[in-house]
Amino acid sequence: LIQLYIPLNFLGVIYRELRQALTDIERMFGLLGQHREIADASDARVLPPGPAGVRFEAVDFAYDARRPILHGVDLDIPAGRTVAVVGHSGSGKSTLARLLYRFYDVQGGSIRVNGTDIRQLTQDSLRAAIGIVPQDTVLFNDSLYYNIAYGRPDASRAEVEAAARAAQLEDFVARLPEGYDTRVGERGLKLSGGEKQRVAIARALLKNPAILIFDEATSALDSRTEKAIQGQLELAAEGRTALVIAHRLSTVMNADEIIVLDQGRIIERGRHFDLLARDGAYTQMWLLQQQEEALAEQA
Ligand code: ADP
Ligand code: MG
Repeated sequence: LIQLYIPLNFLGVIYRELRQALTDIERMFGLLGQHREIADASDARVLPPGPAGVRFEAVDFAYDARRPILHGVDLDIPAGRTVAVVGHSGSGKSTLARLLYRFYDVQGGSIRVNGTDIRQLTQDSLRAAIGIVPQDTVLFNDSLYYNIAYGRPDASRAEVEAAARAAQLEDFVARLPEGYDTRVGERGLKLSGGEKQRVAIARALLKNPAILIFDEATSALDSRTEKAIQGQLELAAEGRTALVIAHRLSTVMNADEIIVLDQGRIIERGRHFDLLARDGAYTQMWLLQQQEEALAEQA
């Protein structure tokens, strides 16, 4: 009986860890309690590793049929390029990220990776190709090391530390009595919003994915840390396909294309200086932020 009991108990532990991990991922996207099943197509294909271009074609989407969120969104991120999405809160920016990760399926149009509709890909292979730094990171109830290495469990200690360094976590870790072994999460050390964001950045850098999504990835950081990390993020995005949802416009100046989303519609698109020359919605947002930053510096 003992012999039987031990392996079952062991399975129980694994099961609980797995449940916790799934719960964390769902919470990461604010999906808990409203999760709808997305199943693989019976003939779903595996997305081969390597560079991956992303294309949204006339995407319509609503969480609730009575309230459409996205209207005919066209967006093209050739492999290796960076497209930034800006717009007021509630305009549908994070929804784009959730759709690309396939937490929901589009209701009109399609999302394609290297030409294949993501509904025809296995979710595992799609998600393996995507590294995401969400707006709100939920940490696992485990060590700090585990939380970073989760991006790529087979990574070496040196690689995990390099990712932590790139995400400006090194000094923070050095000040912890137990360093990387410190337990974090709900039942451990509570990290600040900015610290959690840096863990998520380290995790994404370590995962080394073909597609990177930054969803206001630096919004919880003070502007000095943000500047320090910004260079690392740009470096990480180099050669990768990146969807950058931006909070501060100064972080998207170098994007290959900037999309301005307003109530689920693209109202302007172009490069930073082209958009400024148009003197439209982007210019207004830009001027407003310049004012805010000037005020913040005086304070
Ligand atoms: P943004 O990231 O630009 O601030 P979101 O994409 O998060 O905007 O949200 C767009 C709209 O969709 C908002 O009006 C928001 O309230 C709504 N929304 C977001 N998530 C859900 C959800 N899970 N269920 C219903 N409505 C949602
Ligand atoms: Mg958002």
